[in-house]
Formats: sequence, structure tokens, C-alpha cells
Amino acid sequence: MEKLIQEEKKMRSVLENIRHRFQEIRDQHNMLTEDIEIIYSQLEKKKFRTLPLIKIEQIFGKFEYTEKSNGGINILNNWQNDNIIILKVNDLTVWCHKLIAPQLAGAFSEIYARGLQGEVNFEGGGGCFVPRHKCWDPKRGLSFHSWGITLDIRPREFPYGSSARQNPYVVSIFRKWGFFYGGDFRTPDPMHYEWCRFVI
Ligand SMILES: [Zn+2]
Repeated sequence: MEKLIQEEKKMRSVLENIRHRFQEIRDQHNMLTEDIEIIYSQLEKKKFRTLPLIKIEQIFGKFEYTEKSNGGINILNNWQNDNIIILKVNDLTVWCHKLIAPQLAGAFSEIYARGLQGEVNFEGGGGCFVPRHKCWDPKRGLSFHSWGITLDIRPREFPYGSSARQNPYVVSIFRKWGFFYGGDFRTPDPMHYEWCRFVI
């Protein structure tokens, strides 16, 4: 119980920090586009990599599951209750893992602060927590969407395998907040952003 209260307090203070950061970003919003571009091009140079399943399980937990008929899975026991939360930032609502919620909130806040919210929606099957196999194919391994740590944005316009890329500012914002862009996978998945590191 004590531990839960402490965790809750920690989460609150992280979210409070994000609110402050959001305010700061809003205040800087008049910054010249060129300035933003320079900052982001510096960030682009840093290389980040996605993590293997074993690491993901160490950080976000392991669960038992049963197969559904469509390539989805049913997660058993309490893992979902203990780990998945509903995050709301302005108009966006997303189910995600509690440990990445602060970073996702940070990314969404920055997207709004920069007036880029028109670039982000979950229509047509987007979103974050979807317990399933990769590409809904039961022969493949589990997708990290099953842990609620990756998200798909505008899947209709940015389908798996296509060379379309999302707005570079949106990509940069997610990268800064610890998400790897699926458009950079060997087989591009330009709707997809995958958590790859803690930044707060
Ligand atoms: Zn995805």
C-alpha cells in the first residue's frame, strides 16, 4: 500500500513537471521555425535503437495469454489492470503502459503547443495498447502494442510498408520524448512510434 501511494505521488510529480514544460513550450512558441529546425536536426543525429522482447519484458512485465481467432490475444490475470492506464491530453485519449504515460503526455503536449495536433489522430485503427501478434499474424511474435508502449498514428494514410513519412516535426518530437519512428525500420512502418528509452 505504502509503495502504491509513493508510486502515485511520483507519477503526480512527473505529470506536474510535464505541465510546467508544456507551459514553457507554449511560451517559446514564437521561437523562429529555423531555431526549432536547428534544435531538431541536432536531435536527429543521435541514434536510438528499439529494444528486444527480453528487455521489454524486464521493464514492463511478463504476462500469460491465450490466442484469439483474429491474431489478437487475451491477456490473462492482473497484468492489464496493474499496468495499463487511460491517458488524456486535450482531445487525445490513449490506453498505454503507466511507465511510458509521462513521456507520451510530454510528446502530445508538445505537439499541441506547436500547433501540430492536426497531424495526430487514431482514426482507422490507430492507438497504443492493442494485445495482438505483429501484423495480426499468429505465426509471428507478439507486437509491442500488447504492452501499450508503441502507438500507431493515422494508419490509413501511413500504411505498413509504404514510403510515406509523417510530418518531420512530429517525428522529431516523438524521438525527443523517447520513441523510435517506425518509418526508419528496414520495412518501414510509418504509422508507428515505438518506445525505446526513458527520458524523464
Ligand atoms: Zn504499430
